[in-house]
Amino acid sequence: MERCIWNGNLIDINDYLRPFEKSREIRTASDNGELLCIEPNCLCRTLVFCHGQIRKPYLRHRDNVECYYEEFEKRDTPRIKKIRDKLYDLFIGRGHNVKQIVRFPTGRHYAHLLFDSNGKKIVLQIADKSLNKRQCDAIVSECESSGYLLNWIVIGDTNRYQDDVYNYYISRFVFNTSSDHTLIIINENADRITQTPMAHRRYYNNDFGFCAKGKLEKLVLKDDKFGIDDIDLKYQQWRNQQAERDKKLREKSAQNERIYHTYDINHENNIIKRGISPLSTKLFENELKPGVRFDHKNHGSGIITKIEDNMVYVKFANGCQDSFFVSHFMSSSLIKILK
Ligand SMILES: [Zn+2]
Repeated sequence: MERCIWNGNLIDINDYLRPFEKSREIRTASDNGELLCIEPNCLCRTLVFCHGQIRKPYLRHRDNVECYYEEFEKRDTPRIKKIRDKLYDLFIGRGHNVKQIVRFPTGRHYAHLLFDSNGKKIVLQIADKSLNKRQCDAIVSECESSGYLLNWIVIGDTNRYQDDVYNYYISRFVFNTSSDHTLIIINENADRITQTPMAHRRYYNNDFGFCAKGKLEKLVLKDDKFGIDDIDLKYQQWRNQQAERDKKLREKSAQNERIYHTYDINHENNIIKRGISPLSTKLFENELKPGVRFDHKNHGSGIITKIEDNMVYVKFANGCQDSFFVSHFMSSSLIKILK
């Protein structure tokens, strides 16, 4: 372990390694039994500071006991710690009543951040892809039986849109089971966030829905929920953009339909006699057929598996399958056909 309570404060021993005088202070505190385990109910709260030649400095319980906090710290990676610190600083700076690393009274897991807001206890829990279903379920159940309101924030890529089926378990879990069906992603640097609310995701068929992006400072706690402060405005802007794009797509689609049907007729008769443009012939003979590979901006590389009834069926390298209208496939700015 690297953290403990000393004189009532949460400290990290890495902050006490230099200069030498500081490391003497921490050794003296250890000798005096002043370094205490963070877990108030630990069976041996007294910790010993250890610092040898090989292993980096650490704290151990003076007696060998099973300690929930020790378990917690093993999974508390530098990445999670950094994000927790940033979130803590953000909200404490705004005057919120928030504590770090508090065990659920009825369980063995710890809330990363626990807010006390108008008499309600609200948890903000940080997760990454390593959090498995069993741990998720345990946290949900302990939080519930403690009477706390649980909110998640998931570490991920804030540059991409969040599409449910392509996400890791924890992202899908949060998106589908959280009370407001909202997925909030934070990047590893802890300076960018995205928010994907399920309520807004099916506005545009065959697309990946709405995902608001912003700086970390945009994150607020409102009505017991976390989210981007101007998400309604962002959603309206997105709708306007979609409507504009929709209009353009319809125009392009009508144009492509004409080419497609002309090609169909001509294929059976004689292409040259009917006078089809060489461009559209090339388009469908060379580009749109099973086996053709393409890159999708959000989902990576894929291959066309079938073309049927005006639909293009595809399989992505990650194993996921999908289908698109021919016109959408040909005109989408997300899709690039590989030569
Ligand atoms: Zn302990």
